[in-house]
Amino acid sequence: MALRIHEIYECLQGETSQAGRPMLLVRLAECDLRCVWCDTPEAFAEGTPRELPDLMREIAGYGRKLILVTGGEPLLQEETPELVSQLLEGGHEVMLETGGHLDIGPIDVRARRIVDLKCPGSGMERFNHWPNLELLTPGDEVKFVLADRADYDWAVACLGRIPGDVEVLFSPVHSTLDPQDLAGWILEDRLQVRLQLQLHKLIFGDDVQGV
Ligand code: SF4
Repeated sequence: MALRIHEIYECLQGETSQAGRPMLLVRLAECDLRCVWCDTPEAFAEGTPRELPDLMREIAGYGRKLILVTGGEPLLQEETPELVSQLLEGGHEVMLETGGHLDIGPIDVRARRIVDLKCPGSGMERFNHWPNLELLTPGDEVKFVLADRADYDWAVACLGRIPGDVEVLFSPVHSTLDPQDLAGWILEDRLQVRLQLQLHKLIFGDDVQGV
């Protein structure tokens, strides 16, 4: 079965603990969630079918060490675990970002798995797959995208359920939650979390695609 691909391009990692690093982004097509603030709705479309060997050849051609497999929702596709494993075997450093509503178990633990926990403001909170938290290993990261103070309070209440050696990212919805407010709350509450901004939007602007 082929993987359905939305786009592939070289860029700087805009988020996570690896923000600022050059990488190759592999965006898989389709998503079964509809977060109200989603910034990649174009990836909801069907995408272009690509056989795995052909896709691996294209990725190798870019010569990038760091690969981000994202979406859409990459875990919707049966061959994603095999793609991740083959990339790791090929000597790549692999990050996989998922919306957090599907089982991360099939994904090789050598990959850095970035798992969203959908806050109430996303409209998708009811779909969170909580057993994923028990599968996290050091190197994985949990991301909260925060639209307002209510989302922040919800995220803080979740922190006790996340293993202590897993990086936690608090990311304000761009142009919705003021990062200065979020920074103040994190400091005031003495949280051990990382505030992350979407670096690619700060550098290139909100509407530029493919960076
Ligand atoms: S999970 Fe990601 S791609 Fe899917 S709707 Fe939410 S933000 Fe968009």
